[in-house]
Amino acid sequence: MPESVSETRLLDNLWDEAEAGRLAPQPLELLRYRSNLLGADLRITNFGGGNTSSKFTLPDPLTGDPVRVLAVKGSGGDLRSIAASGFAILALDKLEALIARYRGEAHEDEMVAFYPLCAFGDNRVAASIDTPLHAFLPFDHVDHLHPDWAIAIAASANGRRALDEFNARYGRRIAWLPWQRPGFELALMLRRAVDAQPDCDGIVLGSHGLFTWGTTQAECYRNSIRTIDQMGQLVGERARRRGGASFGGAAVRAPRQADEVVAAILPHLRGAVSSNRRVVAHVERGEEALRFANSAWAADLCALGTSCPDHFLRTRISPLFVPWNPDADDGAALRRRIDDRIAAYRRDYVAYYEGFATPGSPPLRDSNPSVVVIPSIGVVGFGKDKREARITTEFFVNAIHVMDGATALEDESSAEAPGGSRRPEQAAQFASFHNYVALPRAEAFRIEYWALEEAKLQRTAAEKEFSRKLTGRARRRRRPECGGG
Ligand SMILES: [Zn+2]
Repeated sequence: MPESVSETRLLDNLWDEAEAGRLAPQPLELLRYRSNLLGADLRITNFGGGNTSSKFTLPDPLTGDPVRVLAVKGSGGDLRSIAASGFAILALDKLEALIARYRGEAHEDEMVAFYPLCAFGDNRVAASIDTPLHAFLPFDHVDHLHPDWAIAIAASANGRRALDEFNARYGRRIAWLPWQRPGFELALMLRRAVDAQPDCDGIVLGSHGLFTWGTTQAECYRNSIRTIDQMGQLVGERARRRGGASFGGAAVRAPRQADEVVAAILPHLRGAVSSNRRVVAHVERGEEALRFANSAWAADLCALGTSCPDHFLRTRISPLFVPWNPDADDGAALRRRIDDRIAAYRRDYVAYYEGFATPGSPPLRDSNPSVVVIPSIGVVGFGKDKREARITTEFFVNAIHVMDGATALEDESSAEAPGGSRRPEQAAQFASFHNYVALPRAEAFRIEYWALEEAKLQRTAAEKEFSRKLTGRARRRRRPECGGG
């Protein structure tokens, strides 16, 4: 790949040829290096989100015969901090053999039980549900990432058209694949998409994220950051063209509330969302959070819900918006409204659960919101401890970036169909607002209450003794190592 096409304007190319050369004899170490570089920038992928893989040959530990393997980020790992020991290593011929065992989409969950049987040697790292997505893409090095700029295109009603514009502008060949939940069916769809367009150099997966690849580790890295960088350029340009009025402009013009005002509201809010189980709060009051919270479209966008499946388990299907204009209402009025709105949220959430639950569904976890948006105060996230509350809040800031980008991409084609760029049989289920498309509630429920995800939650460590209680000395860590694929 000529150097000129790997230039980036927004992202730094961190690839160090000397370091890569030193690691080259150990492909797993080079994959770890590539993954750490990608995970180091939150604009490239969110906390714990996305996964990377390489295909290479290792000697069978028993016979010494060469075996083609797939090394892919293990379930629950984080790209920034992953070590070589965090990758699941599987025999590619065994993974390929699974295709013959596949009974169709209705049975795709049963395939997950086969992944450990494909392990290479004594590798016991749990393979994530994204494993077949990497296995069946016919490229030696594959990155699957969740960049806010790419999800903005993926979550746009006119996403396919925006991607056409992107390809024409930058001379790229990124293909569009309509939404399909993560799983074995998606893996086969990805392979078919490449079969249909063998010269494509990436795939945007509707309402989800990005796949990019390369024939070498360095080429894969450059393709990923270049693609994300160019998508950032496109979204940024559209946002500038729109002017400063993101989210329909400000509806509440009151200044950011003083710390004392927030401190007076927070215990009430925390108490209200702790009706089922006690939670700890984290408040985000930065410029982006307040611009969204104060905007004319905040109520509608909050009601629509989040778009990326990676966000659900943290932010739930939708945040709660509590309208408040501090110029007109006092704190007592806000407290009353918090109570009313949270009670209504709980009723709606129970109806959502009961509407979609089947006899095999995991039990309802908590009907309270995990994110509350209040004008002039900001975005408040909740969790069992300070760390989880902060991560939840940061995930919703990711969602704000996605909504900002998708609404910036709005044009005359956006209104053609809310489910535009989706599969025809699904299109009617997708709702949109100013070009931003949320996942249908049925799909969201499938992910939020996926039996296999529930099993993973059950396996996680027991809560610490002082979990859900305020200790006044919650440690602040820059970067967690949490999340799924
Ligand atoms: Zn993903």
